[in-house]
Amino acid sequence: MIDDAAVLVRTYFETGTLPGLPQGHFIGGHYAAGSDGEMLESFDPGSARAFASFSAGKGEDVFRAVEAAEKGLAVWRDTTPAERCRILNRAAILIRERAGYLSVLEALDSGKTLDEARGDVRSCARLFEYYAGAADKLEGRSIPLGPGLSCWTEREPVGVTAQIIPWNYPTSTFARGVAPALAAGCAVVAKPAETTPFTALVLAGWLAEAGVPAGVVNVVTGLGADAGAALVRHPAIAHITFTGSVRTGVDVMQVAAPNVTRLTLELGGKSPLVALADSDVDKVVDGALWAIFSNAGQICSAGSRLVIDRKIHAEVLEKLIGKARALRLGHGLKGPDVGALNSQAHLERVHAHVQAARRRGLSILTGGKPATDEQTGTGWFFEPTIIDGLPCDDPAVQEEIFGPVLAVQIVDGEEEAVAVANGTEFGLVAGIYTGDISKALRLARAIDAGQITINDYWAGGVEVPFGGNRKSGFGREKGLEGIEAYARTKAITIRH
Ligand code: NAD
Repeated sequence: MIDDAAVLVRTYFETGTLPGLPQGHFIGGHYAAGSDGEMLESFDPGSARAFASFSAGKGEDVFRAVEAAEKGLAVWRDTTPAERCRILNRAAILIRERAGYLSVLEALDSGKTLDEARGDVRSCARLFEYYAGAADKLEGRSIPLGPGLSCWTEREPVGVTAQIIPWNYPTSTFARGVAPALAAGCAVVAKPAETTPFTALVLAGWLAEAGVPAGVVNVVTGLGADAGAALVRHPAIAHITFTGSVRTGVDVMQVAAPNVTRLTLELGGKSPLVALADSDVDKVVDGALWAIFSNAGQICSAGSRLVIDRKIHAEVLEKLIGKARALRLGHGLKGPDVGALNSQAHLERVHAHVQAARRRGLSILTGGKPATDEQTGTGWFFEPTIIDGLPCDDPAVQEEIFGPVLAVQIVDGEEEAVAVANGTEFGLVAGIYTGDISKALRLARAIDAGQITINDYWAGGVEVPFGGNRKSGFGREKGLEGIEAYARTKAITIRH
C-alpha cells in the first residue's frame, strides 16, 4: 500500500481515484459483495466528481453482518482482556503507520482539508490506544452485606452493538464507538454515512490485520433508510450508538423502543462561545474563527454562536471579519484553510438558511454565498459567513445550520450572557472567554452543556468525556465514561 500522502494526492489528481479502495461490505472478516449488487457513487466534494462506488446495503446484508457479529461476539467476549488490549494497541500502531493513506482518503470522501483529516486520523489512532489501556481495567466492586453473604459486581460486554456514523468525522467517530466497544468485549456492526463510506471499510480490514477475530467488526455501507434502518431495528442489537441529526435520532429512538435496545445519542448542537467584556480580544478572535470555520463549520460542537459583550463587540467583529475574509477556500488536497461542504444537498441547505436570514433583513457582515475551488471552478464550497446582532428567537440562532455560518448575539454583562448561552434547545459544548477565573467558574456551572472549555474553545482530547444535554442527546463518549455504554454491570451474591 502506498502511504506517502504527497504521492497519493498526485495519483488522485492524475487518475481521478485512489488505489486500494475496498470493494463491498466487510462481513465476517472479509470484503463481500452486496446482496443485490446495487452500487452507489461516492463524490469528491472538492471537485463535485464521483471518484469511486460502493455497495448499497439492504436488510439482507445487515442480517448477514449481525449473524457474523453474533459469532464474533462468542469468541471476543472470551478473549482475555490482556489480549484485547494487545490487539487494540496493534491496531493503533497500524493506523499510525498508514496515516497517509487514511488521511488522503478521509479528505477525499468528506471534503475536509488534508491537515484536518490528518488530525482526525491521529485521534482515531489515539482512541484505539486509549481504550486498549482500558480493556484490562474494567473492574467490579465488592459490596458488604454482612455475615454469611458475599456480593460483588462484574462488568460484562453488552453484546452486538450498532454504530451509526455521520459524514463530518467518519474516521474519528468510527473509532470513538468501535474502540471502547471492542475494549469491553462487544462485537460491532457499523453503518457509515452514505457520502463517506470508505474509511470505516478500510479500518475494519486493518482491525482484522491487527488480530481482531472474524465477525467481531463488520461494516455495511448504504443508505440510512435501508441499511441504517434495518440495523437499528434488528432484535439482536444490544446497543445503538447513533451520531447524527436530532430528526434521525428521534426516529432511531422510536425504532429501538419495541426491542428495548440501549442507546447512546450524539446529536446536534448550537454551541455558544461566550466572550465577556474582560476577555483577551485576540484570543476571542482566533477562538471564534476556528470554533466555526474548522471543518467548514460541519461540526456538531462548532461554536456556531458568538455571545459577545457589547463592550468588545466592535473590536472583535472588525478583526474577525478581516480574518474570515482572508481564509482560502479550496479542494481539501490542495492545502486550503477551509475545505468543501460534504454534498451538494448539504450546500443547498446551508445556502437556504442564509438566504432566509437575508430575507428577514438580518445583517450579513461577510460571506453568504456558495463558492467553488478557484483553480477548477468546481466543488461545493460556502463562503465563511457572519450574521450580526441576532435576537434569541431568530432561526439562525435556534437551528443548527451545520456550515460556516456564525450567528452573533450581543449581550450586556454576565447574567444576560448565561441566559443567552442557554437560550436554545441544545446543550453540547460552551466556550467561555474571560480574564476573571471566578466569572469563568460561575459560568461553567451555570451553562447547560456536556462540555465547557475556558479560554480555548477546542481544549480537550480523547481522554475528556463528550456528549450532550437536552436535544444534543444523552450518554457520553470518549474518556473512561465512553466505555460505560458497552460494559453492563452484573451483581453476584452468594450465601455461605
Ligand atoms: P443524519 O442523521 O442524516 O445521518 C447520520 C447517520 O444516520 C448516517 O449514517 C445515515 O445514513 C444514518 N441514518 C439516516 N437515517 C437513518 C435511519 N432511519 N435509521 C438508521 N440510520 C439512519 O445526520 P447527518 O446529516 O449525516 O449528520 C449531521 C448531523 O450529525 C448534525 O446534526 C450534527 O450535529 C450531528 N453530529 C453530532 C455529533 C455528536 O457527537 N454529537 C457528531 C457529528 C455529527
